Amino acid sequence: MFLFLYRIDEIGQVTTAFNGMTKNLADLVRCIAIFFFTMFEIFRGLQGYKKVWYNLDSKCQSFNQRGMVMKIRHLRHATFHLHIQGVTLLVDPVLSPAAAMTPIDNSPNQRRNPLVELPVSVEEVMTADGCLLTHTHRDHFDTAAGEQLPKTLPVFCQPEDRDKLHLLGFTAVQPVDPVITWRNIELIRTGGQHGTGEIGRKMAPVSGYVLKAVAEPTLYIAGDTVWCPEVAETLSIHKPEVIVLYGGAARFNQGEPITMGKEDILRVCQHAPAAKVVVLHMEAINHCLLTRAELNEFIQQERLGGRVQVPADGQWLDF
Ligand SMILES: [Zn+2]
Repeated sequence: MFLFLYRIDEIGQVTTAFNGMTKNLADLVRCIAIFFFTMFEIFRGLQGYKKVWYNLDSKCQSFNQRGMVMKIRHLRHATFHLHIQGVTLLVDPVLSPAAAMTPIDNSPNQRRNPLVELPVSVEEVMTADGCLLTHTHRDHFDTAAGEQLPKTLPVFCQPEDRDKLHLLGFTAVQPVDPVITWRNIELIRTGGQHGTGEIGRKMAPVSGYVLKAVAEPTLYIAGDTVWCPEVAETLSIHKPEVIVLYGGAARFNQGEPITMGKEDILRVCQHAPAAKVVVLHMEAINHCLLTRAELNEFIQQERLGGRVQVPADGQWLDF
């Protein structure tokens, strides 16, 4: 009897244990189901995130492909920042404060140079991945730039300026002779005439550059030149979409202007009818006599207002 009752009790315990096991098993299955469901939801969420990211990335890529990322920030005279292919090039840096340099010899309007201050700090001007020099006359590369720019900064220049830059201590000078590729940007050096006749010969050599990169508009920085066969040839060969001209009609007391005046700028526009043109090199060095107001009036008169820009110091331009 006792044995029977014991057995009954034993069976009861087994049943209870079995019930407990069944309950635990159900909980376990439920936990596993919740785990997999949660993982599924996380995965779906990640897929959604991936899709959103992919769309954003595609939009950025198509933004790039439209060539909308190139920017220019004009600083002063010929000094500007070029943002292209995710890097910043500092073009023709002059870092001196206003009136730190003597006037240009034998020129009108004898005032100390530069005529105006930089629109931002020298530190901000020097924030660049590389430096591009059209030539090293002091209104394009002054003593302060030679002293203050980091000596390891890549400097792209015409071959004739290499030794001067080495003597100043620059260790990453890269003469463009006539083509160089840097950070997926092709730099092609172009010619020019810094004045006419004997003056033009004495002012030589000067260079310009064409810059080409995937998904960017072709850019031509003409440098210190007047309208001449070298400029015409560059326009016809490279068909630039954006052209930076150094205007100001700079001059000495004798002879013709040594940089572009109104008529030179008009000729560039006529030879590159689809290009956007930016005119710098004005109102900062004493011998540049063409003012922004006078040039803007001419631009309106010639109905070029839609594609010729004359930026203020510090102004950003998008392309
Ligand atoms: Zn100049």
